[in-house]
Amino acid sequence: MAALIPINNNQKTKIIATIGPASSSKEVLTDLVKAGVNVFRLNFSHGSHDQHQQVIDHILHINKTFNVHVGILADLQGPKLRVGKIENDALEIQPGDILTFVNEPCIGTKEKIYMSYDHFAQDVKPGEKVLVDDGKIVLEVVSSNNKDEVKLKVVFGSTLSSNKGVNLPDTKVSQPSLTPKDIEDLDYILTQPVNWIALSFVRQAKDIKDLIKRIQAKNHFAKVIAKIEKPEAIRNIKEIIKASDGIMIARGDLGVEFPIEKLPGIQKMIIQRCIQKSKPVIVATQMMESMMVNPSPTRAEVTDVANAVLDGTDAVMLSGETSVGAHPPLVVDAMRRIITEAERHYHMQGKRANPDPESETFLSDVLCLGAPRIAEEVNAKAILGLTVNGYTAFRMSSYRPKPKIHIFSDKPHMLNTLSLVWGVRCYLYTKFTTTDETFEDLNQILKDEGVVKAGDIVINTGSMPLYKKFRTNMLKITVVE
Ligand code: PEP
Repeated sequence: MAALIPINNNQKTKIIATIGPASSSKEVLTDLVKAGVNVFRLNFSHGSHDQHQQVIDHILHINKTFNVHVGILADLQGPKLRVGKIENDALEIQPGDILTFVNEPCIGTKEKIYMSYDHFAQDVKPGEKVLVDDGKIVLEVVSSNNKDEVKLKVVFGSTLSSNKGVNLPDTKVSQPSLTPKDIEDLDYILTQPVNWIALSFVRQAKDIKDLIKRIQAKNHFAKVIAKIEKPEAIRNIKEIIKASDGIMIARGDLGVEFPIEKLPGIQKMIIQRCIQKSKPVIVATQMMESMMVNPSPTRAEVTDVANAVLDGTDAVMLSGETSVGAHPPLVVDAMRRIITEAERHYHMQGKRANPDPESETFLSDVLCLGAPRIAEEVNAKAILGLTVNGYTAFRMSSYRPKPKIHIFSDKPHMLNTLSLVWGVRCYLYTKFTTTDETFEDLNQILKDEGVVKAGDIVINTGSMPLYKKFRTNMLKITVVE
């Protein structure tokens, strides 16, 4: 295995690793952080709360031991549909066969198969497509009794096994976005210092607003990510981005529900829109799939990760590669090397955010977006900002500037939250006396860390008066002493 670099690597595009049996021990989690992971994803489609708790405890311990700020992303399963148990775990089906889906649990046979969607018979229409097992089996709705039974013709497929996922790309699914399981998981998650909560199968902005209400009711600091994996979400993308704190392009289910050849274009469109709205965006799924078993990625995977970097994504995500793969640290190490090389060729594409004079944050936005521009103009080595809720970091990052953005906060959880954000590195700073003293302190911290040296130019931003913790409202060009 390649040598692991020291903790706190230098890439601007962040790495998210999904945790599972292959990576849940403290030793492997530590190796993953050393290899370059910025955020760990806990997938609530799998594992018990006790298992997640152990992983969270390990991550908190690693953060403390190594003085790093690795974030935690909890991913809610959402209304994922599945068939039930299948007799002998294998049902041979042929094109032309007629199957019956029912909403009462039963052992699946050619006569009837359980599917976990109570209102399927009411919501579905003849001619609509039903995809099972990531689209390996294609069915077409023939008829419904509008109550509890739907007849489907097999268009493509061979063997159906138990608990396979079902996708309904054509159906307007009436299931609530938060299932009883999600609500139970959320009750647990909101007792933990989780930084981001992702919701699967988001269809409209309301799904995200419901989740935010529940988080706020518990006074929790977690920010929300909408997973984009349904055609309906693509249609409502503008409102969903506005309602969310971040977006995940969940290419796995999206590639089943949407014409797969459209994925690259969709990825670019969503990344562009997120950058313009200063919302972090994640590219997910099958980025390094072959490394589930192999010690190195394919040429296509290297190019896929590099292209996501060149598109300007905030983060790239590993799923099976780190949760159940053969060598998780090796995958992260390879991904970090690809990112580092790709970033040498990265230039911000498309339009940047435009401060809106009608917005209540207009003056601060002009400053947050102006700071990176001035930094590039004066060839500054670093941009420094202070934040309470992350706003300054999101805004500055969306400019995608050449120098790194160094964000200081007195909220330890905020440092972990911002680990997901492009080009941002975080530090705890609790003093907040005068602006002059704070700027001197922060510049000294960067000097001590070897980020800047005497004679370098840095851009200091903050708010005056400091103790009031307003939004960013001032900027200083400093020559480091
Ligand atoms: C996806 O479908 O790409 C995805 C990330 O979702 P999950 O891993 O939860 O199926």
